[in-house]
Amino acid sequence: MRSLAMEPRIPKVYDVKAVESKWQKAWEDLGVYRFDRSDRTRPTFSIDTPPPYPSGELHVGNALNFVYIDFVARYKRMRGYNVFFPQGWDCHGLPTEVRVEKTTGKRKSDFQPEEFLRLCREYTLKWIEEMRKDLKALGLSIDWSTEYMTMDPDYWRRTQYSFVVMYKKGLVYRAEHPVIWCPRCETAIAEAEVEYVSTSKLLYYVKFRVKETGEDLVIATTRPELLPSCVAVLVHPDDRRYTGLVGKHAVVPLFEREVPILADEGVDPNFGTGVVMVCTYGDKSDVRWQKKYSLPVVISIDDHGVMNENAGFLKGLKVEEARRRVAEELRERGLLVKVESISTTVGTCWRCHTPVEILPKKQWFVKSKELAGKVLEEARKVRWIPDYMYKRLENWVLSLDWDWVISRQRLFATPIPVYYCEDCGAELVVSEDKLPIDPRFDPPPFDRCPRCGSRRLRGERDVMDTWMDSSITAAVHAGWPDAMDERLFPADLQPNGYDIIRTWDYYLILRGVALFGKSQFKEALINGMVRGTDGRMMHKSYGNYVAVREVLEKYGADSFRLWVALAAATGQDVRFSWEGVDYAHRFLVKVWNAARLASAYLTGEKALSLEELGAAELRPIDHWILGELSRTISSVTRHLEEYNFQQAAQELVEFTWHKLCDHYLEAIKYRLSSGDKAAYSTLYTVLLKTLQMLSVFAPHLAEEIYSLVFKDREGWPSITVSPWPQPPAYDEKATEVGALAVALIAEARRAKHDARLPLSARVKTLHVYAGDRAELVKTLAEDLRGTLRIDEVVVHAQGEGQRKVPEFPEISISLEV
Ligand SMILES: [Zn+2]
Ligand SMILES: [Zn+2]
Repeated sequence: MRSLAMEPRIPKVYDVKAVESKWQKAWEDLGVYRFDRSDRTRPTFSIDTPPPYPSGELHVGNALNFVYIDFVARYKRMRGYNVFFPQGWDCHGLPTEVRVEKTTGKRKSDFQPEEFLRLCREYTLKWIEEMRKDLKALGLSIDWSTEYMTMDPDYWRRTQYSFVVMYKKGLVYRAEHPVIWCPRCETAIAEAEVEYVSTSKLLYYVKFRVKETGEDLVIATTRPELLPSCVAVLVHPDDRRYTGLVGKHAVVPLFEREVPILADEGVDPNFGTGVVMVCTYGDKSDVRWQKKYSLPVVISIDDHGVMNENAGFLKGLKVEEARRRVAEELRERGLLVKVESISTTVGTCWRCHTPVEILPKKQWFVKSKELAGKVLEEARKVRWIPDYMYKRLENWVLSLDWDWVISRQRLFATPIPVYYCEDCGAELVVSEDKLPIDPRFDPPPFDRCPRCGSRRLRGERDVMDTWMDSSITAAVHAGWPDAMDERLFPADLQPNGYDIIRTWDYYLILRGVALFGKSQFKEALINGMVRGTDGRMMHKSYGNYVAVREVLEKYGADSFRLWVALAAATGQDVRFSWEGVDYAHRFLVKVWNAARLASAYLTGEKALSLEELGAAELRPIDHWILGELSRTISSVTRHLEEYNFQQAAQELVEFTWHKLCDHYLEAIKYRLSSGDKAAYSTLYTVLLKTLQMLSVFAPHLAEEIYSLVFKDREGWPSITVSPWPQPPAYDEKATEVGALAVALIAEARRAKHDARLPLSARVKTLHVYAGDRAELVKTLAEDLRGTLRIDEVVVHAQGEGQRKVPEFPEISISLEV
């Protein structure tokens, strides 16, 4: 028989690096992922991509987030959507300032502010450059023409504009209020920026004196250094031990100040001695009680975490030193009853892990408490994937005690567009048309104070929380505040990790409600975290950190992407696994080799489409693979609609590897080499549709094979923008016969294997004991002979062979060598 095979168009070795970088460049040159603004025919699908923080290196967690987004973008594009996949950078923030300080070995205060800001911008650009490379190397279908940075003047303008609009609506205000303060970073921080860590602390039992009776009153506290700030003593109203004392006064030891003894339901009678001291401010309950009982405020800690003049003999000591010193003093005077160790949680700064303090400060706030109800109402309209993620947002919103403090005492951030009158104190908010502005350096855009006529105006020194920048991304993507493209807003998809539900998702909805009366996104796709190979959170200090770049260097993007899809269900944590990436790689090599084999036949001659060929020409095994493909397409489509990447990828791999490569391709090789049109057309269709689906997960490989084998005939500029495959037609009845053929071939191959024969070895006779299916099996004889290199197939209606066919236990076979 003359073989029709030609030299395969696909090279023997799959050169991952060359293939991937070639297509990354080509896709950009072709502009296939550009959002087409002028296209009014296709429906749009807009994604509010998280602008990463420019740390200089893409974290595997970021990479997973972006790969998920890319799965969606690629799938939607193939479904006919005009997809908007923008890219931004969330530049500002404490970490950059800290890093610039570290890199230069100087403190921020050692620089002129302008010089420090210039350095922050310069480093940020450098770090972005590195991360941009990583994002491109992942093969993400980002529309790079949309790239923006929150430190750009144009982005400043938008952030400041949003501030002004909210100020005019009465949703932003300036007031003195206790705020959470990081003494290391010397700035206010939001509740979302506090990290609670478990720790053990000493609990000091301190003797107070009741003024009226002279008796001792013992109070347990972890913060005796706050005695100088003690303004009241509280007990529970039902606590019999102390009912007689309510209304009397306690004398604070060492400081000899008299404070009232009050009864309050909020006191836990089981903690310590059941008596608490209210200090301004030890924690949030102190803030509540101070307000409730109009207690005086005595601040004894300054902005740097050092005791001030109100602390008497503790003045000048750092908080921890003061704690030791005051304990010594109490012990010496016999005022310390006992000390015990307890486990508790301490609020720390998310950036520098210093324990935070509560200090009253004049700051800018967003009225987040007032908007909480509406925020939850809008959040419930969002489709959360997985749906239990909504609960996390709800719990967070309900746990918030205070308004969102949005001013920061830092440098590298969007300035607050406000000036103050030095004479009457008026707040002059800059009008929208004068933005962007930097009141720290720019002259005021007002001649004089509109209230008192003074010309002595001073610019605001404080800047904004970076979440003020990144909580308007969806609106900015749509062009706000200039020309809002309504098709893009609210965004169709908000994809992020569960770790930022309480920040990014929350702030976006809050600002959406404040500015537009609705959420800024319709669906929230929430991903899990990537853990180290040891199962712990990935962290450089744990030694379990894996850089994306390392994975890309070793395996390329497609293997990593496919691993991401296969590794865990959407929303669940993923443990990083080199074996997992390697498995994905081996699968892709399998596809490459299968396509290479097929490419020896599929090129050169014009194939008839299945429709042209007609179903009558197909063999049962062709129907079988078409049936399996059809089921796989329906199922993968359903899973992708549900953002269930794991199931989609698993079923696609299972089909491709085990049905297409292991069974079908093996079974039709002999037909291909003899020029069988049905085998040729079926393989063409099945391989192409499989690659189309695979292009969501492994776009480079799919594109390379497509370009070498299919592009001439199909004509799409890229397989990644081809129309999503439809399930092919097939004959259901014939697929059952095809399944029987596949099972028989598989069992006969196992028999060959067990007889230590190579698969290519010729065998004399295969006996099939098929019972009442004997006639049916006879129709498959040619497939069995051709595939298994068997001279003769004998089908028996009676008797039993040596080996049962597992899928059809009533049928058995024997091999005669
Ligand atoms: Zn800090
Ligand atoms: Zn004035």
